[in-house]
Amino acid sequence: MRSKTLLLSAALPALIAASAMPASAETLKTVASFTVLADVVKQVGGDHVTVTSLVGPNGDPHEFEPSPADAKHLKAAQVTFVSGEGLEGWMDRLITASGYKGTPVTVSEGIDTRTMEEDGKTVTDPHVWNSPVNVKIWVKNIEKALSDADPADAAAFKANAERYTRTLDELNSYAHAKFDAMPEDRRKVLTSHDAFGYFGREYKVSFLAPLGVSTETEASAADVAKLIEQIKTEHVKTYFFENSNDPRLVKQVAKATGAEPGGELYVESLSDAKGPAPTYEKMFRYNVDQITAAIAKSS
Ligand SMILES: [Zn+2]
Repeated sequence: MRSKTLLLSAALPALIAASAMPASAETLKTVASFTVLADVVKQVGGDHVTVTSLVGPNGDPHEFEPSPADAKHLKAAQVTFVSGEGLEGWMDRLITASGYKGTPVTVSEGIDTRTMEEDGKTVTDPHVWNSPVNVKIWVKNIEKALSDADPADAAAFKANAERYTRTLDELNSYAHAKFDAMPEDRRKVLTSHDAFGYFGREYKVSFLAPLGVSTETEASAADVAKLIEQIKTEHVKTYFFENSNDPRLVKQVAKATGAEPGGELYVESLSDAKGPAPTYEKMFRYNVDQITAAIAKSS
């Protein structure tokens, strides 16, 4: 089901918000690798930038087949943003294919990243944005890159960055208020891949996932069997789908364990404008509400 969405979104890169405005010589053309990052760039850049997201709404940022139009957008970009930490494995190939001469700004630089064991290797968890505390560092890096590229608008970028940082602080307080009120041993949920590590670290929620940190590898039968055992021993009662992944595996695990569906989470991709998560702010609140409601129901 999701692979269809992915193909569509790969063919039609999303022009976010600013694309409706007439092009002006003073508007900075920027490209972001995926929708969550594109939204944050838009928050900081305001009217002074146009932002094109390469991976579209509901698309998977790990696995992406860029189209010729994506290559064109990238080549024309004055500033390009990636999250980094291994998320956009497809970006180097696209840079080469497009003839883009710049160096993408890695917005996750400076974040206290977490590592995990996957198939015997230590890998960095790229899903930093699922904690708004980390997104504050994105904002700093984005503000600096935009001001370097367009010094005339530096004051506006600074004001936008300060305003949006306050929004991120509010999101963090909102999540803490909801989770801190719940007993810690109840804060356990099942998702399809391990994208909530930073969220779990901040709000002390355990997320169990049949896939690892990337959607590129498939879970083995032994991994799935081990996970089912773990869910039974730890009495996990709720499971979630993701908007950008195939839900079959998580359904299979839930069936074997009797866990109840909690709904859909937006882990690494915004919804389209009509969906419940068209901005990072809405996405984060939506996820917090979904998870806390499900935990409250199964407690
Ligand atoms: Zn992911």
